[in-house]
Amino acid sequence: MHHNGASPRFGFLIDMDGVLYRGSELIPGAARFVGELRTRDIPFLFLTNNSQRTRRDVVAKLARMGIGVEDEHVFTSAMATARFLAQQKPGGTAFVIGEGGLLTALHQHGYAVVDHAPDYVVVGEGRTFNLEQVEAAVRMILGGAKLVATNLDPNCPTQHGPRPGCGAMVAMLETAAGVTAFSVGKPSPVMMRAARKELGLSTDETTMIGDTMETDILGGVQLGFHTVLVMSGGTTATDLPRYAYRPEVVVPSLAELADRMDAHGWRAPWQPAPPARAARKPVGV
Ligand SMILES: [Mg+2]
Repeated sequence: MHHNGASPRFGFLIDMDGVLYRGSELIPGAARFVGELRTRDIPFLFLTNNSQRTRRDVVAKLARMGIGVEDEHVFTSAMATARFLAQQKPGGTAFVIGEGGLLTALHQHGYAVVDHAPDYVVVGEGRTFNLEQVEAAVRMILGGAKLVATNLDPNCPTQHGPRPGCGAMVAMLETAAGVTAFSVGKPSPVMMRAARKELGLSTDETTMIGDTMETDILGGVQLGFHTVLVMSGGTTATDLPRYAYRPEVVVPSLAELADRMDAHGWRAPWQPAPPARAARKPVGV
């Protein structure tokens, strides 16, 4: 979303899984927080490493859960990857291990999806992964195709527990082909910076909200964004001391972040509260 330049000059990049919802369950406070941002014209962009869905699919999923946003509010690792490849090699070709979100994004950026001698082997999450694809991809990589990952998340949370993520599939290709993938998704600066520009804000005006230290918070810290960790997803308070970097603000969930911002007149979460009005001195006796 391009910000129109009026105040307030701050905005949010918001992770989805573990922040807005878990599986198909809305996290309490998420709809209120997003509603407040919309009402107050505070720019925001949902930032997900999941490359399975198109932005339209994401908007439909959110609408089902009671969060109404536009396509322009969604930025996926599939979109970031397609944009990156279009910059690196315009009009290139890709062999894709992934689903609709990734295929759509590549087509929209002028890429042809092929199954012979591609410029790139591009991997995203999905449930159609099979060994024939791996075998074909490994031969293409050995033949000169470059290995690109939409993200390196080791697993994806579901209601029934984690399932192997894109990073797990990429690891298999890396091991078999003896190469290291280039990854575009969080915490890569490629995606983090593209998202910030999409928001139309400067580094200092941007806050990343997420539930994962290794992606959301690490990426935010590396880019110099403000960071908010929510404990409604994968991270617990006992995990935090293990990391050499820390989030600027830690809250149980978006509900508490909304309360906190409410108490401060919806200024940016790191800004000091407005000065209390000085008590009027009694006029001389
Ligand atoms: Mg998350």
